[in-house]
Amino acid sequence: METDRVKVIIRCNVCGEKFVLRGRKERGSFDTGFKQCICSNSEDLHIEEYNAL
Ligand SMILES: [Zn+2]
Repeated sequence: METDRVKVIIRCNVCGEKFVLRGRKERGSFDTGFKQCICSNSEDLHIEEYNAL
């Protein structure tokens, strides 16, 4: 099964830091390998696909 390679923006809702990562889109969720923010937050994150066309 093919997966879509996408750029993903992860924004930390705790400290506001943003991360732009390459990941895969699978069944409506994103697999980026992202573990946690620099502030140790790993749960309160806003994740969205980054479309820079
Ligand atoms: Zn953070």
